[in-house]
Amino acid sequence: MTEMGVFLKVRIRGAVEALSPLHVGAPSSTSPLERDNPVVKDGLGRPYIPGSSLKGALRSRVESILRGLGGPNAACDVLDTGCVDKRTAEEFTRNPAATLPKLIGQLCPVCRAFGSPWFASPLRFGDLYPEGPVRLETRTGVAIDRDRLTAASRRLFTLEVVPVGTTFRLDIRGERVDGQSLGLLWLALREFESDGFLGGGRSRGLGRVRIKDLNCEGLRNLTDLRLNLVDPAYWPQVAAEDLDQLAYNGLGPEEGEGRV
Ligand SMILES: [Zn+2]
Repeated sequence: MTEMGVFLKVRIRGAVEALSPLHVGAPSSTSPLERDNPVVKDGLGRPYIPGSSLKGALRSRVESILRGLGGPNAACDVLDTGCVDKRTAEEFTRNPAATLPKLIGQLCPVCRAFGSPWFASPLRFGDLYPEGPVRLETRTGVAIDRDRLTAASRRLFTLEVVPVGTTFRLDIRGERVDGQSLGLLWLALREFESDGFLGGGRSRGLGRVRIKDLNCEGLRNLTDLRLNLVDPAYWPQVAAEDLDQLAYNGLGPEEGEGRV
């Protein structure tokens, strides 16, 4: 079990399985008005899921859970004001070493685990490569030009997808990870063990995934991560019963022994 103030080195491996066709596009080709929308590929032409995509998806799931339990302030909106006040941010820019403890004290749990403009996440999500060769498929649809909204402006487009059943290898490493962040990571992974979404086209039925076959180096078992989630010291804005429920619902005490 990890105590407050103890930092751990962890490595979590597992797999992400596509439960529906998956379209994780390159950033330059996400517009549905583009005629062709390829999936992101490496220099050898292999499709992959950028680690940042998985990280972002896990982050947004835990943000909504925390806000649901602890109110809107339980997780900040990094795109809006964020959790670090302007003065601290300015101090930090001038003198990072001296201001870091103050800045960490202001970070919301989600920014501390997954990073913010001011603070690098202690968790590194490697890019996820498929296990074995993948035969890519295409989906065809009709895009309507929002500027004109006329039938004449309808255009066919194709979306390249990774087929159902493709499995990608997951690899998350953490250096000096605090207990609160580990608890949040555990919650995110557990959520995605049943069901999650990645990439685009969710309204078209694309992007359903699940995380499976998790194992963790650096911790004895699942309970070590879970205990961080139920420690009320980490979660002052969330009621202890809610944390208990979150941590123990649907999991027997023996489940996950040796796993995350
Ligand atoms: Zn924050």
